[in-house]
Amino acid sequence: MNTLNTFICQSCSEEHHQWPALVFPCPSVYAELSEEEKQYGQTELNDDFCVIERPDGYSFFIRVVLIQKVAGKCDGLEYGVWVSLSESSFLDYNENFNNENHEVRYFGWLSNWMPGYIYSDSVPMNVETKKGNDRPEVIPHQDPEHPFVKDYYAGISLEEAERRVAAVFG
Ligand SMILES: [Zn+2]
Repeated sequence: MNTLNTFICQSCSEEHHQWPALVFPCPSVYAELSEEEKQYGQTELNDDFCVIERPDGYSFFIRVVLIQKVAGKCDGLEYGVWVSLSESSFLDYNENFNNENHEVRYFGWLSNWMPGYIYSDSVPMNVETKKGNDRPEVIPHQDPEHPFVKDYYAGISLEEAERRVAAVFG
């Protein structure tokens, strides 16, 4: 597969292949909007921010990184996902977007559905902003009942990780 880059690993100093990030271009709920709804009011999407305005109010989302651990691998599988934030968290993130020393934690809800899992409800997340210009990383709240959260903490197999990459890039 020529989507793979190699890099020298900081943990073991060996050369590894790097998996491509699996990126969701927008929150699932945005993808479901009609063209007319996408034109409504302040509704807007770019690489890092998404606002949905409806007659009854606003929803606010930001793009973040989720790292899925993979058994026996130094580096995990990286997902580009969206989380919804409160208006005050969203405004705080927006105001500090170019501030390289802004390290805070927000509360957010996962706003993309990972293929292969069944969700009865959204997953609560800690959203941790990073120094520098990296996107925030999200950490799901512990929930032993949720298969996605269980996999997040236990790690998935190498075969499963390769299947997920192939499903997007294969
Ligand atoms: Zn390594």
